Amino acid sequence: AAEQKAQIGVTGLAVMGANLARNFARHGYTVALHNRSVGKTDALLDAHGDEGTFIRTETLQELVDALETPRRILVMVKAGAPVDAVIEQLVPLLEKDDIIIDGGNSYFQDTRRRERELAEQGLDFVGIGVSGGEEGALLGPSIMPGGPRKSYDSLGPLLEDIAAKAEDGTPCCAWIDTDGAGHFVKMVHNGIEYADMQVIGEAHELLRSVAGLEPAEQADVFEQWNRTELASYLIEITAHVLRQVDARTDQPLIDVIVDAAGQKGTGRWTVQEALELGSPVTAIAESVFARALSSAEPEMRLEAQRVLPAGIGGTTEDVVHDPEFVEDVRKALYASKLVSYAQGLDMLTMAGREYGWDLDLATIAGLWREGCIIRAQLLEVIMEAYQGDKQPLNLLFAPEFVTAVEEALPSWRRVVARAVERGIPAPVFATTLNYYDSLRRPRLNAALTQGLRDFFGAHTYRRVDDAEGIYHTLWSGDR
Ligand code: NAP
Repeated sequence: AAEQKAQIGVTGLAVMGANLARNFARHGYTVALHNRSVGKTDALLDAHGDEGTFIRTETLQELVDALETPRRILVMVKAGAPVDAVIEQLVPLLEKDDIIIDGGNSYFQDTRRRERELAEQGLDFVGIGVSGGEEGALLGPSIMPGGPRKSYDSLGPLLEDIAAKAEDGTPCCAWIDTDGAGHFVKMVHNGIEYADMQVIGEAHELLRSVAGLEPAEQADVFEQWNRTELASYLIEITAHVLRQVDARTDQPLIDVIVDAAGQKGTGRWTVQEALELGSPVTAIAESVFARALSSAEPEMRLEAQRVLPAGIGGTTEDVVHDPEFVEDVRKALYASKLVSYAQGLDMLTMAGREYGWDLDLATIAGLWREGCIIRAQLLEVIMEAYQGDKQPLNLLFAPEFVTAVEEALPSWRRVVARAVERGIPAPVFATTLNYYDSLRRPRLNAALTQGLRDFFGAHTYRRVDDAEGIYHTLWSGDR
């Protein structure tokens, strides 16, 4: 028989690469496999070689030779310098129109640079955001591809085949825009994921400290919430995590887990980039900082418990067994989450302007409906809000969300007030409410900021009664 060529090659066969390779094979593609150390390749073939048609290769030259042209090579190695190292080795082996695909969690500015550099050599470089972890990679991830548009003609059908499918059957994979757009959208997705987890955590803490609910009781609450407009993967697994009992102590497992949150950096990237863009993603920022505060300086937290007074009255230890408070928390969680999504999507709009991407928010919300960690019913509603000609300037302006937030507001304010009174941190519940109130306020305290800046630094200001002019005042008073 004529030598069979593979439609796709995968180099980097740790969990993500191996599972994506299997996913392609299970969809009937012939997949060429490569890993720097051949052990991982053989382990994959031993365990799953019967799932489809694989071609085993030991060197990048063999990988390149095993592929039909134009070649599609998915690089799934550790993000950062290893990606550049692999690209450098691949480039001399490739021909014009071959496509190198980076499916790792690369920083979008690296992706922009790589696409530019490879374009100079006649090669297409495509950065794709892949969400859904190991399981998503195998069973259907949410895929956010960037790169040159023409590359998607060749690559898109394969990616759409292996992607998660929304309820209506649409693949959770669509071309986002050129160069780093896919990785950018994936980065913001991760930032939103941080905020989603933080508001769930704040709700959990209030349910315990104010409503007095034990973890198993809270699991029931989250299960019930998962049948409301909060229905989502993260709410669903929160119920499982809270119900888990520790085999060693018979305690709820949540109570024996050290309360110091880890992070791998994509949330931090989102905030760093938001600062560059001037995009007020306060929910994501507070979530990143909340993780930092929990874990950075254990000594400081210990001493704070000893020396810092709470400054709260005598009744605050009382627990309110109040179903209405539980419902207040649910509504606050929903409203906070909406603001967090509004901020994240607004950041995408601002990035689109900065980097010349035409980001379609309906499509992007649609990609997040299934396959990824933030998958939720809400994303269907968000997608619909951006469909049609009348795009809301801010997600919160979409009529259904104006109504939803209006309905939640009294609860939201009560929950934030109660948290403050009780000395229970709820940074994202509070910052999202502050954002909401800032946005709708006719005048902000920024006028005084401008006055002060002009006083000490002659930084000038604009007047409400003159759209064009720039003013500086010779302020009276001590200088
Ligand atoms: P990983 O631990 O990030 O990387 C291990 C792989 O990289 C191995 O195949 C290793 O080869 C290879 N590698 C490292 N340095 C190399 C170099 N200089 N040259 C060639 N190969 C090199 O693997 P992973 O956990 O599967 O993740 C892969 C990518 O997906 C990363 O960017 C990661 O951030 C991302 N990721 C995404 C998700 C998600 O939910 N989307 C989840 C996990 C990871 P050897 O076997 O020879 O050492």
